[in-house]
Amino acid sequence: MKKTTVAMAVVAFLLVGALAGFGIHTLVYRNTASTGEMSGAGSKDNATGGGQPGEPLDEEDNIADAPPRQEAFNPNYAMQHIRYLSMSIGPRPQGTAPEIAAADYARSQFSSYGYSEVREQSFPLKNGLYSQNIYVDDTGSNPTWTIIVGAHTDTIAGPGANDNASGVGTVLELARVFKIIDQVPNLRFVAFGAEEITEGFRKPNDHYGSKYMAAQLSNEDINVIGMISIDMVGVGSSLYVNATLQAPKTFLDLFYAYATQRNVALSYNQDPGWSDHESFEAHGISSFWLEYRKDPNYHTAADTYDRIRSDLINQVGNLLQGFLESIDANACTLLDEASDYR
Ligand SMILES: [Zn+2]
Repeated sequence: MKKTTVAMAVVAFLLVGALAGFGIHTLVYRNTASTGEMSGAGSKDNATGGGQPGEPLDEEDNIADAPPRQEAFNPNYAMQHIRYLSMSIGPRPQGTAPEIAAADYARSQFSSYGYSEVREQSFPLKNGLYSQNIYVDDTGSNPTWTIIVGAHTDTIAGPGANDNASGVGTVLELARVFKIIDQVPNLRFVAFGAEEITEGFRKPNDHYGSKYMAAQLSNEDINVIGMISIDMVGVGSSLYVNATLQAPKTFLDLFYAYATQRNVALSYNQDPGWSDHESFEAHGISSFWLEYRKDPNYHTAADTYDRIRSDLINQVGNLLQGFLESIDANACTLLDEASDYR
């Protein structure tokens, strides 16, 4: 090899190295870099002990590796919501004052993130009481499409920290983040009322809130192309995606592919419809339910805050944020072709 050739090879090597280095740097920046902005509830300087909505956790409750960026899912905030719902409010049977308190909490949190319009759907229960869905729409860069991300507030027994304050806390934190960052489709974040099964624990006596919203979509000028139910994501060892397959599982497949790309192990299950995804699948909308398994204490008094694992909440929240950010116009078109409202 001539000296000049060697020199050119060295230059080429350095150039490739520099480009690769730049790529790695960009990736690192995107995932971990701080914006230097630590304002509002995100500042540890404001730590006062926590327990009330909007207040940070005690220092000992803080998660050491939690990202400090305002535009990244922060499990500390989700954990605050879970603690408030399960401890400050406690059991939240559908149609009762505590379920209404949980709805009020969701409303106040949505408002605090800057959503100018927090909407409510009130619907009757079979026991003569009323329940409600609280929701916001976060406009995407292409308003042709909407994806619903929801979790139920009510409980069947016990304080419902995992079932399902864990889901509501995750939805609220995602709503905070997406108010700051941009995405392609509209995102509707929902705190559903009255998901749990009642009247003899028999279907179809369940999912009243999500059924109501799914039915009302026919009266809305909105094209829902996918729905995610986040239900029980704070306890367990295996992450599952479930769908009833009453609608095409395109959305689940997209999520599965994304999780695989992120090296997150995911199991798939066809379920009989044990969460709010069922209500939207029944209307032809490609939907799935995300959960960790198996929680031995769900639907009992032992479903308590101290059992919630913030690392699981963190994984689910980060995964969902990345997934929702990854949904581009091509993915929306694919989902639009799969989801046919009926
Ligand atoms: Zn549940």
